Amino acid sequence: MSAADHRLHLYELPRAELTARLAEWNFSPVHAARLWNYLYWECADSLAAMPELPAKVRVRLEETFRLGGPALVREAQSTDGFTRKLLLALDDGRVVETVLMRFTGRMTACVSSQAGCAMGCVFCATGQMGFQRHLTAGEIVGQAMQVQRRLRGQGERLRNLVLMGMGEPLHNYDAVMRAVDILRDQNGCALGASRITLSTVGVVPGIVRLADEARPVHLAVSLHAATQAERVALVPVAKKWPLDELIAACRYFCTKLQRRIFFEWALIEGKNDTAEHAHAVGRLLHGLPTQVNLIPLNPTAGFGGEPSRAEAAKRFQKILVEHYGLPSTVRQRRGLDIAAGCGQLAGADRERGA
Ligand code: SAH
Ligand code: SF4
Repeated sequence: MSAADHRLHLYELPRAELTARLAEWNFSPVHAARLWNYLYWECADSLAAMPELPAKVRVRLEETFRLGGPALVREAQSTDGFTRKLLLALDDGRVVETVLMRFTGRMTACVSSQAGCAMGCVFCATGQMGFQRHLTAGEIVGQAMQVQRRLRGQGERLRNLVLMGMGEPLHNYDAVMRAVDILRDQNGCALGASRITLSTVGVVPGIVRLADEARPVHLAVSLHAATQAERVALVPVAKKWPLDELIAACRYFCTKLQRRIFFEWALIEGKNDTAEHAHAVGRLLHGLPTQVNLIPLNPTAGFGGEPSRAEAAKRFQKILVEHYGLPSTVRQRRGLDIAAGCGQLAGADRERGA
């Protein structure tokens, strides 16, 4: 589809809205149900691939809606075979990344919520790109469907979704939540509540809103530092949403929804991986139902830091559990050989002028 195509994407509409639209046109709800099934179960990427939908319905749909995309630009498979990265082009030519991961046999899609990111975290390839634009709900759903289509060919289905690709999902709250609702639909992709995880840099009003609206997502908060001064140096938006306010919002979320939170910590050698840092994390998160995910830094062109060594990661973990009873995982970012870190593949293509 060209950028001049202003028709709404079919992936923008939750089932109730799609059904209402067909009803307005005096088409039976049976057709709406069939269309939904084609879209989300059969993974059809064109109206022509929906033969059981009467021609008059298809013609009407074609006038109002479009389907298809985002288009595959490039695909890379990691040598360990567990990660596949898709570089996808949006209708206006911007590219985003979607990653397909296989963990313990379960297929997880990591999708982007924005092209670029406005938050400017110094170690992040997407942050180094700056903000381009928000993705629409349809573009977020479209990434998941690209993955679903591939899995379907292998007789598998998507089980988990993480909003941890490019962009800050709580900076694009409405589109992200609309996409979550569409992907959770029981007659469609049917992703379970405990199967969707949203990762945020710490947009405090967004966390409070998630809690107030009791949104069915797990929350991961990218912490990276346990004092305000250290955090601002890595995550500049911490100036706007300071650490004490962030932790207060996290407590509110946990209490209100009776859910735990994951904290993410990119381990950077010498910078946030010492014993003192581990103790500071333990004290900061005291009393919160949580787990800390430690991820050795993925080096990027725009940041001089190095990933922590394995011993430093182990020491960090040991302090958290032995002194504070805090569970943690050390997760190697998978697929390093295909630049599977956030924004790295799109960044590399930009540098090459692709
Ligand atoms: N904007 C959201 C989600 C996308 S980033 C957020 O910041 O949480 C997903 C995760 O990747 C975040 O935890 C982020 O801190 C982390 N990340 C980004 N660049 C990284 C890098 N170079 N090495 C390790 N982790 C990185
Ligand atoms: Fe944006 Fe997340 Fe990257 Fe920070 S880490 S720049 S919030 S995508």
